[in-house]
Amino acid sequence: MPADERFEDVVDPVDGTRWRIDVGFLESSWTCLWGDGCQGILDEPAAHLMQGCCSVGAEMLDEDEAMLVAALGATLEPEQLQHHAEAAEHGFFSDDTRTNTRVVDGACIFFNRPGFPGGVGCALHRAAEAAGEPVIDWKPEVCWQLPLRIDRDGDTATLRRWSRADWGSDGETMHWCCTERPSGPDQADAYVGDRPVIESLAEEIEALVGTDVMVEITRRGGRRRGGG
Ligand code: SF4
Repeated sequence: MPADERFEDVVDPVDGTRWRIDVGFLESSWTCLWGDGCQGILDEPAAHLMQGCCSVGAEMLDEDEAMLVAALGATLEPEQLQHHAEAAEHGFFSDDTRTNTRVVDGACIFFNRPGFPGGVGCALHRAAEAAGEPVIDWKPEVCWQLPLRIDRDGDTATLRRWSRADWGSDGETMHWCCTERPSGPDQADAYVGDRPVIESLAEEIEALVGTDVMVEITRRGGRRRGGG
């Protein structure tokens, strides 16, 4: 268990969901290190690949999300999507079940590699920004949720940090997990942000828990920091 893991309960006044929230993580200085030392999710440190958590295909929430991702992907031009030809020939998904995006040469089909003239990184992310639209409207939910994760059990929902176990058996051999504190000199430290997660990921957290719960956890955090 992470040393700073600390859960608080908040009940959503609208739908009655009992949220268990790891406020220890939301008040931590974790920050995404993509392009700035992120060592990726492979068995070896791989900052040079700049793949972040895109080394595996993104898991779709449901068929509606698969349809949305396919529709948005189809709007991308070859200048925006390095694997445009691959997508045109084989589609965006690994198979007909459309549960995961296709992996091409060791990373998600939407991931543009370093050196691609259209820019490195997720082509959907870049296209959303170019269109002046929220990234969370373009990317699969799991991609903008990371490193946050929700577990639902009846009317209880837990919002917590992603862990190695969430990567399945791959997590056991991953060199690095960005939500863990570094365990040695060859590990990057992602707890170096200049503001708490509740601020840096405010848009994503609110999209996950809703406005009422977001307001309450922000209020409690402010009170803990002596803000009234
Ligand atoms: S969420 Fe973690 S693994 Fe993914 S890009 Fe950011 S630092 Fe890297």
